[in-house]
Amino acid sequence: MKSEFGLIDQIKTLFAAVPANECEGIGDDCAVIPINKEESIVITQDMLVERVHFLRHATSAYELGGKSLAVNLSDVAAMGAQPFASLLSIAVPEELMGEWIEEFMRGYRDLSARHGVALIGGDTTASKCDFTINITAMGRCRNEAIKRRSDARVGDIIAVTAPLGGSGAGLNDILNGELATANAAVHRNPTPRVEEGLFIATQCEGVRAMMDISDGVASDLRHILRASGVGAEIELTQVPIAEGATLRQALCSGEDYELLMTIDSEELKKISKTFEAHFKKNLYPIGRIVDGEGIVWLNEGVVYEGDFRGFTHY
Ligand code: ADP
Ligand code: MG
Repeated sequence: MKSEFGLIDQIKTLFAAVPANECEGIGDDCAVIPINKEESIVITQDMLVERVHFLRHATSAYELGGKSLAVNLSDVAAMGAQPFASLLSIAVPEELMGEWIEEFMRGYRDLSARHGVALIGGDTTASKCDFTINITAMGRCRNEAIKRRSDARVGDIIAVTAPLGGSGAGLNDILNGELATANAAVHRNPTPRVEEGLFIATQCEGVRAMMDISDGVASDLRHILRASGVGAEIELTQVPIAEGATLRQALCSGEDYELLMTIDSEELKKISKTFEAHFKKNLYPIGRIVDGEGIVWLNEGVVYEGDFRGFTHY
């Protein structure tokens, strides 16, 4: 069967000869639409489908409203942009019309208000079965500050913005019927790293490639490597693991929505210090960019023969 990313590659190839109209398209967290020499709009779309992305009995409507927007704002943050607007389309089963969908909208509204993001349109339809959400989010960015997946260079240090795997551990709890654990709450309430993304783009010269972690470092880092034409070494003992999670969840389970970046090694010290002074939390170096392709996993410097794979839909 074709993989999710195989299909996306095929779509990209199919459209190769259709004009791009100065837009930078398929392949990054957001598309980039230049406004002028100074500024661009970045734009992303993420869909959440019941029973694929969430179980309705395992989340509140309010949490789901917030999470739906959060995963989109995370992609805007990953470009180093300031989100300013969203469009929301919902296919709503009849039994959810009323208090449930109003609670969903309150969750969506509160996260919109927190980040100053206007809701400027969308679509509302009935659904014969599941609840489906499709969101477009837009941000604004100075051209020189845009963070792409394709800018990693050999010698860069790879870093993440927080311990990973909490969301994956939480999903595990939810699937085991334990809905009230701390990590289950983390899974249902991701925080898009909007302030961090903007700060990195504007205050941390030397951060080169960036993306958000939606499918796990083991999957997402490979996108940076492929886009940049480089390889990576990851030191397993350096990977920060969230409380209650395993190393495998930290690398493979996804939905942490933290930022993954590569940093000019000469700027690492300065950037770590600036970031820590501002956010009162660490940046975590986990490896480095090398010549070649793919990821080499190291355990205390010795090649680890096992493999780690992130989440894919097929
Ligand atoms: P992310 O996890 O950051 O949201 P995805 O892995 O969903 O990114 O998508 C990777 C890239 O492929 C993005 O640039 C996205 O816009 C693009 N993409 C995904 N599905 C499609 C599609 N059906 N048609 C066109 N582009 C797509
Ligand atoms: Mg992304």
